Amino acid sequence: ADLPIDPVAGNWTREVLGAIASNVLPTPVSAPHLLAWSKPVANTLGFSDALVQSDVFLQPFSGNQLWPGMMPLASNYGGHQFGHWAGQLGDGRAISLGVITAGDGSRQELQLKGAGPTPYSRGSDGRAVLRSSLREYLCSEAMHHLGVPTTRALSLIRTGDAVVRDMLYDGHPAPEPGAIVCRVAPSFIRFGHFELPARRGDTALLEALLRLTLRQHFPQWQDQPWESCLPIWFAEVAERTAVLIAHWMRVGFVHGVMNTDNLSILGLTIDYGPYGWLEEVDPAWTPNTTDAFGKRYCYGRQPEIAHWNLYCLAQALAPLLDDPEALQFGLKRYAEVFTETHRKFTLGKLGLPMQADLDAWLAELFRLLAADRVDFTRFFRSLMTLNPARAATEPAYWREHLDAHRYQPDQSTIQHEAWQAWLQQYLVLQDSVDPLAARASIQQHNPKFVFRNYLAQQAIDAATAGDMEPLGRLQHVLQNPYAEQPDAEDLTALRPDWASRKPGCSML
Ligand code: AMP
Ligand code: MG
Ligand code: MG
Repeated sequence: ADLPIDPVAGNWTREVLGAIASNVLPTPVSAPHLLAWSKPVANTLGFSDALVQSDVFLQPFSGNQLWPGMMPLASNYGGHQFGHWAGQLGDGRAISLGVITAGDGSRQELQLKGAGPTPYSRGSDGRAVLRSSLREYLCSEAMHHLGVPTTRALSLIRTGDAVVRDMLYDGHPAPEPGAIVCRVAPSFIRFGHFELPARRGDTALLEALLRLTLRQHFPQWQDQPWESCLPIWFAEVAERTAVLIAHWMRVGFVHGVMNTDNLSILGLTIDYGPYGWLEEVDPAWTPNTTDAFGKRYCYGRQPEIAHWNLYCLAQALAPLLDDPEALQFGLKRYAEVFTETHRKFTLGKLGLPMQADLDAWLAELFRLLAADRVDFTRFFRSLMTLNPARAATEPAYWREHLDAHRYQPDQSTIQHEAWQAWLQQYLVLQDSVDPLAARASIQQHNPKFVFRNYLAQQAIDAATAGDMEPLGRLQHVLQNPYAEQPDAEDLTALRPDWASRKPGCSML
């Protein structure tokens, strides 16, 4: 594109003014080895199985040697981190190799994560450890198959070099295997890409970036004056974000670092870091141990935080408009679309059609699930085999049903009377629904298989020891998360005792 690129060459850390990206070269690695790859992504891109498994693929996707035509870039963005403006951040460990046209005609950008330093690396080395790369690789593919908008992952490559991160062993940082993921998306543009030039007062760059974004991803509005297209475009971004967050809530995904630099302008899940999956229902749960006290990025606050992030984006766009109040429309659309979609999904999880006046009854369900420490994924999926009439009338049947999904089941604490009242209402509501339709809805909204936190750990431990079988099995099972897979029942188990989080490990 005809956008300003940083004229300075070299990967040394610096402030980059007036440019949207910097030319960079990946830093070579010593002994690259392909650990895993996604056949669906490769095939969409038009890469044959043989190509991906060959040295021709390994060279560029390990960062060792580029294909002709690849012009690697690290992009420049800022962001609000934990509620505070953080200034320039940028791709500190991400390097885009270029863009290709996929088989379906879509534009797909290929981006290495962990391929070495860039001008945005800010004191770190631009590398990634196998642990975090495997987590991004498996989770982003799992999210796609769950029907959640997300960046994809093409390949996971072990570099052969050790990386020292924050894993503590006896109080000392321990070297870990390094790895590189190639992630794939139509664009990796974040809210923070617009915030940085806006904050710097660089209106020309802000406008150029917006025009590029519209041309590439929202062509219907590309040539209109700001006054007529920006408020509508912003509302579109807000609506996509609302649908995204409703999906996260539906599947029990907690992103963990919803800074404005980690929100995609296309409404994709992006930047898989310390994310986690809800186990026992707990709105205050966050997987991010660096956020454990503030709980800013816990499960229950994700909808509110996304709205706050959209407000930051609106502030970045405001200087381009005579009437910045017009952006309020998008913020309002966020709230409307989130509320509606979240309600539709939550009722769908219960096998019920859309209806507006059940919010108190739904809130009571989540209160009860939290009080009785019930596993989110297992509970909702178990509705497939629940006999609602027995549940509402036979306390022993209900207790046995629920206990199979509880952490530390303790008969004395179960909220019997409240459950009975809730179940009676469920029975009444189900009366007007065709049982087959209800069952289909429950199955479609409630995955059987999610990338449980302990499953990630098991795959990491095995891969670190050279055993790729658990990763391969998980990748396979998570491609059909809504199907019954009798051979994979063990992957739906409650979190085992060993998997409570260890101190000194931030999972970053
Ligand atoms: P994150 O918390 O992953 O969204 O990253 C915030 C900022 O830190 C981004 O600008 C990243 O590119 C940068 N960053 C994260 N990890 C590294 C790393 N290993 N080396 C260099 N920069 C990094
Ligand atoms: Mg990030
Ligand atoms: Mg990150």
